Formats: sequence, C-alpha cells, structure tokens
Amino acid sequence: MKILILGVNGFIGNSLVKRIMDTTDWEVYGMDLSCHKLSHSLANPRFKYIEGDISINKEWIEYHVKKCDVVLPLVAIATPKAYVERPLEVFGIDFEENLKVIRYCVKYRKRVIFPSTSEVYGMCTDPEFDEEKSQLVLGPIHKQRWIYSCSKQLMDRVIWAYGAQQKLQFTLIRPFNWIGPKLDDIDSALEGSSRVVTQFIINLVKREPINLVDGGSQKRCFTYVEDGIDCLMEIIKNSDNRCDGQIFNIGAPANECSVKELAERLLGLFQAHPDHAHDPVYSDIIGTSHQDYYGKDYEDILYRRPSIQKARDILGWEPRTSLDDALKYTLDFFLEEIKAMGDDAKVQPRCA
Ligand code: UDP
Repeated sequence: MKILILGVNGFIGNSLVKRIMDTTDWEVYGMDLSCHKLSHSLANPRFKYIEGDISINKEWIEYHVKKCDVVLPLVAIATPKAYVERPLEVFGIDFEENLKVIRYCVKYRKRVIFPSTSEVYGMCTDPEFDEEKSQLVLGPIHKQRWIYSCSKQLMDRVIWAYGAQQKLQFTLIRPFNWIGPKLDDIDSALEGSSRVVTQFIINLVKREPINLVDGGSQKRCFTYVEDGIDCLMEIIKNSDNRCDGQIFNIGAPANECSVKELAERLLGLFQAHPDHAHDPVYSDIIGTSHQDYYGKDYEDILYRRPSIQKARDILGWEPRTSLDDALKYTLDFFLEEIKAMGDDAKVQPRCA
C-alpha cells in the first residue's frame, strides 16, 4: 500500500510513520515544513520525505494523490491560542488548503482519511459525545475560538457530501486530547501557545506558575498517542471496507480528569522524577481567568468525553494506557528532550 501523509512531521503524522515503518511493508510519501520529529524514519527507503508547504507545492500533491492508495491530509493549526489570535490562518489552512486536497481525492477516486476533531462537539450537553447522534454546539460568532471547530465541521460536511454525491471513499477520525512524545514543539510551549499537557510540563521545568484557567474544573479525556495509532492503523487497513463512510471518535473515556487534577498529577510525577526529586523549589499552581490567559474571544469547553462504542464494535479497538502512564511517558520524553537540547533549545535538527 502507498500512503500520502501531508503534515507528516506533526504529532500524529510522525508517530504514524514510525508505526508503519516498524510494523508493515507499506510505503509512505510525506510532506511537511520540516522533519525534526522524523529522525526515526528518514533513512528508511520506504519513507519518502519532501520539505514543502501544502499551499505552494500543489503539483507535487496532485501527482502523489494520483500515485497513492490512501491520503491523510493532517496539516492543521490545532492550538486554542491560535484560534483566537490567528482565526483567518486557521480557516485558510484547516479548511481552504485541505479542501483542495479533498478535491484531488475526488478527482482521482482516492480514499481519504480526514482528521476531524473532538472540538466539533463544542459545548454539547450529552454525557458522552456520539458520532451519529450528538448535537454540535458552538458559541456566538464573536467568540473566535469556534472558528477551528466550525472549519472542521464544514469540512466534515463537505466530505460527507462528496461521499453521498460523488462516491468519495472516506473515513473521518475525531481524536480526543491525544498526548505523548512530540505533542508540541518546545519553542511553541516556551511562547505559551501549546496544548495544556506540554504547557504544564514547560511551566514545571521553568519553575513558573501553572495557570488553571477559570479554576481548572473543566475536564478532558487524555488519550495516549500509541493507543490512538492502534486505532488509526485499523482504519488504514480497512478490512472488508468496514471504515468507509464512517466517523470514529478516538479517545480514552476512562482517562477523564480535570485540568486542576492534571496539574497536580504532573507536579507529583515531576517531583518523583530522579532528576528533580531534590529541586529546591517547584511551580505553584495558581488561578487565572480565560480573558487574561487567552483574551476575550475565548470560551471554554467544560467537558469532552467520547463514546467509543463504534470503534469498539467495528474495529475491536480499546485504549489500553492509563492516565498516569500516559502522563509519565509524555513527561519523561519532554524532560529528556529538554536535557538533550541544553543551551541549544532553539536549534532545530537539520533534515536528511
Ligand atoms: N488550560 C489551562 N492552563 C493552561 C493551558 C490550558 O487551564 O496553561 C486549559 C484550557 O482552558 C482548556 C484545557 O486546559 O480548558 C485544555 O486545553 P488545550 O490547550 O489542551 O486544548 P483543548 O482541550 O481545549 O482543545
């Protein structure tokens, strides 16, 4: 099988390539702006990497959509700070540029696996969000946070319509707060624009206060990336075409915890780490408002818990990694990476 992955250097893309190289004989063609997360696979002859921007390198993309069996357009801006600070860029990349890729898939009749998002459920009040039945509930237009959710939802609808009207072969996946090694770049975390787990880890390393937005009672279900990749691999294999036209939540409902509890658990793991057990001081956990932290255009989601019945029934998939293990593996990775970077924290490794 030949697979095209756009955004191959991202958190999901790099983990997926590693798994494919380790466990299959598939070939992967990948494009991204850089390759610093891909050192595990760059030397593999079954992995062809090219540095490029999906908004510029259209001919390469069209040629490779034609050449491959499955397309995963993973390029997206997916951090809440960006939704409120750069909403037009979020729409431009997450919707407009990806739509061109979807249209190539329609043109060449190629299977596409598109990353929707758990954010599409927004402020849904169902106890568990269901792919078929849950309402997608977004806030007012001036709350610009919702542009990401709305862009992804529109793409879900466009893909669905291409499936219905033009027989596009597709699967939509909805990751629920995946975490693990390489979740975010250290630089973005240093600027305060990464996802919560990376942010708290950087706060701990820098002995800065950990900020609980609006008290930290909001909850998320943190899913270990390797569990998510197990599910994604089954979707790519697509035995008996069982994933065609399906939407799958991919999350770990058993790993639900509040942001406050997350901060406490990470602090505990950090204090227990051999390199930090005797640190003279540790970060304080303090409160802040969403206005101060993200600005007035932000609105939070109080809980986000998936129903994963569909992935269980159709794929026989079950997340296996506990919250504490997932946090420990993620923390250990970042502590090692920061140690290895030393004074060169800003230097990116060069591509092969
Ligand atoms: N959050 C927080 N402090 C931080 C960063 C994030 O309290 O330093 C909260 C944020 O308000 C949200 C949750 O943590 O409720 C998860 O944020 P993340 O950026 O990971 O994205 P989300 O799950 O909202 O998409």
